[in-house]
Amino acid sequence: MNDVRSDNLPPLREVVARHGLMAKKSLGQNFLFDLNLTGRIARAGGPLEEATIIEIGPGPGGLTRALLAHGAKKVIAVERDDRCLAALAEIAEAYPGRLDIVPGDALALDYPALIAERGVSGPIRICANLPYNIGTQLLAGWLTLDPWPPFYDRMVLMFQREVAERIVATPDKRADYGRLGVLAGWRCAARILFDVPPAAFTPPPKITSSVVELRPRQEPLPCDAKALEAVTQAAFGQRRKMLRQSLKSLPGIADPAPLLDEAGIEPTRRAEEVDVAGFCALARSYRARRG
Ligand code: SAM
Repeated sequence: MNDVRSDNLPPLREVVARHGLMAKKSLGQNFLFDLNLTGRIARAGGPLEEATIIEIGPGPGGLTRALLAHGAKKVIAVERDDRCLAALAEIAEAYPGRLDIVPGDALALDYPALIAERGVSGPIRICANLPYNIGTQLLAGWLTLDPWPPFYDRMVLMFQREVAERIVATPDKRADYGRLGVLAGWRCAARILFDVPPAAFTPPPKITSSVVELRPRQEPLPCDAKALEAVTQAAFGQRRKMLRQSLKSLPGIADPAPLLDEAGIEPTRRAEEVDVAGFCALARSYRARRG
């Protein structure tokens, strides 16, 4: 369905030219100017009317404008590139009281504190065309928040296609299945919504991108995030080896056999054959042994 909602603001290309926003590779800048596409991503985060959206990296504001035009109650936009702030201020003026610009590094932000500070009510979602260089790091941070369920009720995020496939991977998709898939599968139900070709961006990246939706599980399997990260790192760090061998790299575990036995996993299995529930069981036994 095409539902292009324009605003009275100037076209994005004009905004970029007027503010001299030449894309910087070091900041992972690939901008979206296509209103069909920004509208489609915004609608994936809908219904927006009651929602506050946290957007990472608004840049010149293509997706920001779509989110506001499609009715988001409020957008809190975190941008590291100061060059974009004047363009974003114009959007804030066009949507009084609805765009909160937070200059700074999205990796360094305490999100629950920011939300408490802003006194946000109603559902909160994270929606972003993420800078590719820090996308997985940001996602890992949002997936390992405590307490759980987290402050957001959904994430709609753009990644490189290859990263998107790793996020939604399960043991039957062996090549893609790894630490990220276990972490995402443990705490969220994740799916790829649609692909976006390189030509949709300015400048075009070399690879296809995908928009991923992640919905937090209300009751994920009991498991400690740090222990889960440790066991998946050890297991997938040597993914071709059997677990009885690869798990020897776990700090303090000379013999992984009792750990595997307690978790009900055959010692001859390899990491890519163990599902999320198996890794959670392994993390619980590891945690119990390490204290
Ligand atoms: N949302 C815009 C769009 O779709 O056209 C821009 C997306 S661009 C892929 C990524 C954006 O993230 C850029 O605006 C970049 O400056 C910003 N960015 C990069 N690193 C950041 C960081 N650590 N914290 C906040 N924003 C960052």
